[in-house]
Amino acid sequence: MELDDLYQDVILDHFRNPRCRGCLDKPDAAVRLVNPLCGDEIKLSIGVKDGVIHEVACDGHGCAISQASASMMSELLKGKTIKDARERLSLFRDVLEGKEVADIDAKLGDAAALEGVRNFAARIKCAILAWEAMEACLAQAEKVGPSA
Ligand code: ZN
Repeated sequence: MELDDLYQDVILDHFRNPRCRGCLDKPDAAVRLVNPLCGDEIKLSIGVKDGVIHEVACDGHGCAISQASASMMSELLKGKTIKDARERLSLFRDVLEGKEVADIDAKLGDAAALEGVRNFAARIKCAILAWEAMEACLAQAEKVGPSA
């Protein structure tokens, strides 16, 4: 597999037209993560109500993989319960670690297109950055407790 093969249309589309772009005014959790290896930055803010991630906003800059991944993750997890989101976050990790995961299209949506990143160790951090930001946001939201 060549590096160019990574850049499927769906990845380029998310990179050029990122979903859930922006920042929330009053987030229940907000996290900024950077990937110094590549210079990627992800700023993620979420709104949580009754155990559901009802708002997701993502801002940042960096390589196409990191920004497309952020867009895919945001779109996938918006509207999901925290429990469901955690399952998908861990599935995405499994995929990048090279584990066999059944039905990845159904479970990961457009993010399934990032499966090929597993073949490029140097880019895995780019792909996982936004998902780590979501994990950190969920931990933060749970510490604060469910919002009324
Ligand atoms: Zn990157």
